Amino acid sequence: MFQFDNSYAQLPERFFAPVYPEPVEGPTLLKFNAALAQELGIDADLSDPQRLAAILAGNVVPAGAMPIAMAYAGHQFGSFVPQLGDGRAILLGEVIDRKGTRRDIQLKGAGPTPFSRRGDGRAALGPVLREYIVSEAMNALGVRATRALAAVATGEPVYRETPQPGAVFVRVASSHVRIGTFQYFAARQDIDGLRTLADYVIERHYPQLGSEDNRYLALLRAVAFAQADLVARWMGIGFIHGVMNTDNMTLSGETIDFGPCAFLDEYDPMKVFSSIDQMGRYAYRNQPGIAQWNIARLAECLLPLIGADEDKAALTANRVLTEFGQRFQSEWLNVFRHKIGLVQGHEGDGELVQGLLGAMHEGEADFTLAFRRLCAVAAGGGGGGGDDAFLSSFKDTANAVEWLAVWRTRLSEEAVPDSERAAAMRAANPAVIPRNHKVEEALAAANYGDLSFFERLLGALENPFEDRPEFEDYTIPPKPEERVLQTFCGT
Ligand code: AMP
Ligand code: MG
Repeated sequence: MFQFDNSYAQLPERFFAPVYPEPVEGPTLLKFNAALAQELGIDADLSDPQRLAAILAGNVVPAGAMPIAMAYAGHQFGSFVPQLGDGRAILLGEVIDRKGTRRDIQLKGAGPTPFSRRGDGRAALGPVLREYIVSEAMNALGVRATRALAAVATGEPVYRETPQPGAVFVRVASSHVRIGTFQYFAARQDIDGLRTLADYVIERHYPQLGSEDNRYLALLRAVAFAQADLVARWMGIGFIHGVMNTDNMTLSGETIDFGPCAFLDEYDPMKVFSSIDQMGRYAYRNQPGIAQWNIARLAECLLPLIGADEDKAALTANRVLTEFGQRFQSEWLNVFRHKIGLVQGHEGDGELVQGLLGAMHEGEADFTLAFRRLCAVAAGGGGGGGDDAFLSSFKDTANAVEWLAVWRTRLSEEAVPDSERAAAMRAANPAVIPRNHKVEEALAAANYGDLSFFERLLGALENPFEDRPEFEDYTIPPKPEERVLQTFCGT
């Protein structure tokens, strides 16, 4: 079924542990992403869902697979753990997609591995479907993220606070190498391992750097920029990752691990949803700073490769951290400039954006809806069309009214037809996001065996920038009693 072409499993033995998935009682296919399968050149026999489920649950290991659990370390909430590793994920192998890109096929929740510690190696249905929904939504929203190939029920319970139905998630990533993978070798002072890993990542993700004078410094910069761009895009859709540990940050620049992630309802820069993030380390506003902190940890790992003179290497690596900050600022401004309909960059645009965000914070405006309604204001030009709908998102409108006037003056400096500007804004401000309460609704129904809410939500998220009346309920903020106040880790 898969045309495997495995490279990670060819690396030295200490990079991973070979391990077979543990078969499950009753694999049942819940969802299969046929469009992605096609993109990956997977030849799946949809007329035999039972066999497909058996393969995707790990009961049948397909020809050419070399199943392994990857070794990695990581800083979790700031504390270093020298050995984490894939405790409940097994990399089946890699395929080359239709565009020639190497992609990992990983089974998450496929049974224990040598890295499981006290965990059971399993995943519950709810978190599996959450990852399916959010990762596909991110991609449709134009934000780089791992993909969902399938969700399979195991027919077995998993025991968390309460027994829950078990499931396996089939994840596709451009690779699963994390900052924590580098930390694993650095913690062991395994310089050969570090070099092998760095060369592997350069060849796989940044082949253009292979000829640079200092390829390891260039790698650090490329990863820093990829992450700066990524986090700027998260900010633009109100995404809060929730567990930005170094083991959850990829070298490829794809978003990974959708445990307690959530989206802003009303705009509050200090918003935190995750029950385990009691200090607010991974709050919305802290994300760029944390990404930079994580890149600093990667820099520490790469120092011995960057230069023999450690002080000199540290100085150059430090410069990359400064560049991260600059890159993030300019990407952030880019993202938000487009959100408010500006085409050209001007002095003072940052303040203009902050002015709106400040009014939204004070007025407790729904982040997604307020920006979407601003598109309609732009369509109405100077005539005040759409103002009422936009302002109705704010509990306190005084600042928003004032802001609209300043914004209109700024818009008048750019000669763009209203309809064109509004269309560009609609392409930068989604109507539909995976609203927390709608995700919870879909997962709750699925736990009772009803996948219709999950399916409908996925349908709504396929074209998040279009106004589609049939999906209007997904564009509306939660009622007070529907609000999700806290999210939980998927473990
Ligand atoms: P995560 O919070 O999903 O990023 O996982 C952090 C670490 O805990 C990784 O090493 C995981 O493999 C491990 N882990 C999480 N859940 C389980 C589980 N149910 N069984 C075994 N290991 C787990
Ligand atoms: Mg993780």
